[in-house]
Amino acid sequence: MSTDLASLAKERGIRYFMISYTDLFGAQRAKLVPASAIADMQKDGAGFAGFATWLDMTPAHPDLFALPDSNACIQLPWKPEVAWVAADCAMNEKPVAQAPRVLLKKLVAQADAQGLRVKTGVEAEFFLIDADASGISDPKDNAVKPCYDQQALMRRYDVISEICDYMAALGWQPYQNDHEDANGQFEMNWAFDDVLVTADRHSFFKFMVRSLAEKHGLRATFMPKPFPALTGNGCHVHMSVWDQGGFVNRFYDEEDELGLSSDGKFFLGGIMKHACGMAAITNPTVNSYKRINAPSTASGATWSPNSVTWTGNNRTHMVRVPGKGRFELRLPDGAANPYLLQCVILAAGLDGIATKADPGKRCDIDMYQDGPTVTDGRKLPMNLLDALRAFTADESLTSALGADFSVSYAKLKHLEWNSYASHFTQWERDNALDI
Ligand code: ADP
Ligand code: MG
Ligand code: MG
Ligand code: MG
Ligand code: MG
Repeated sequence: MSTDLASLAKERGIRYFMISYTDLFGAQRAKLVPASAIADMQKDGAGFAGFATWLDMTPAHPDLFALPDSNACIQLPWKPEVAWVAADCAMNEKPVAQAPRVLLKKLVAQADAQGLRVKTGVEAEFFLIDADASGISDPKDNAVKPCYDQQALMRRYDVISEICDYMAALGWQPYQNDHEDANGQFEMNWAFDDVLVTADRHSFFKFMVRSLAEKHGLRATFMPKPFPALTGNGCHVHMSVWDQGGFVNRFYDEEDELGLSSDGKFFLGGIMKHACGMAAITNPTVNSYKRINAPSTASGATWSPNSVTWTGNNRTHMVRVPGKGRFELRLPDGAANPYLLQCVILAAGLDGIATKADPGKRCDIDMYQDGPTVTDGRKLPMNLLDALRAFTADESLTSALGADFSVSYAKLKHLEWNSYASHFTQWERDNALDI
């Protein structure tokens, strides 16, 4: 079912459409198309040179076309004459298999064929920093334990309430906003939904938060660990699997001690089994590994995981079961590509259901305090290279994601790692000059 964008433009006073696709590194790439030209663009797509973005193409490739998905059209609440439309990449009239949103649609269709509907909610934490990125924008926001700081939250009321009002107007059902565990850090929560809806909203949320921060003379960052001594930006994902109608939560079991059904445990088993390989996507940058496996922060806890363990309502593990019929993956960070994040959860979780994967025993210790005494929990990757190797070695995960995607992604991410590894640091001089 698609909406005619030209008519929508007339009805809503839209002057421009931003036809936007997300590349493999999570960057949103767009063309701003005047409403007078949208009819043809809706049919044929907007043209791009694929090589100029992260899609593993060469300069010799033919034009890439971004086909707007009119079901994912959002009028910018802060500039209603512009509408953002998520687009799907095609080339030579065929979908581009490695393009993140194309891949997510494919995995959703596979789940649908099995009668499964995966629903998720994301917690995309961010910092509000100075416009020149020199530091935390609010000099008074300096408490040792700044989490839920009422005063600091209210000093950012203008920007937070503006974003929250927009989410409400868009029908996302926002329900809370808070100051998080690092100075300058915030989180805004809205209702969970089907993975594609969540991925589109997550993308738009990042765009909206950045845009509104700029409008208020600030800068927003979702970087996993922007300040070494402070808690990083997580992007936890809560998940559950429903029947096709979306009414029966297949993860819910009243009888289970945690309220998690056998399907829920199998899905969790898939996440546990593939966690190290998944990290290449959930924690996709060099900086991501400064957040997980990190030493304690100034607030007393990093709130990020360091091992492949799961538990009940305990925030020191990779997976937490906070309530009946769902669980929370605490591994992902703010650098995760909104589409690939959902893709890898689907791929791992559905493999878990298909293979009846055993998640192993729950682990109820304080992982930060007593983690070193645990021997049966696998360590998470220590760096991006470690994660990329785990990803490539995980054949069932890479085949579930498809060879086109997996090969391209690993190739580009290895280039990123190599670029980082060839960078000389002061640490090396400090530690090797007199060797
Ligand atoms: P916390 O900080 O305790 O981890 P939040 O309230 O910040 O939790 O975020 C919880 C997220 O989980 C929200 O996006 C919420 O909509 C989502 N959620 C709640 N129930 C479910 C469910 N059954 N399936 C998927 N997501 C859910
Ligand atoms: Mg040109
Ligand atoms: Mg939260
Ligand atoms: Mg949080
Ligand atoms: Mg959480």
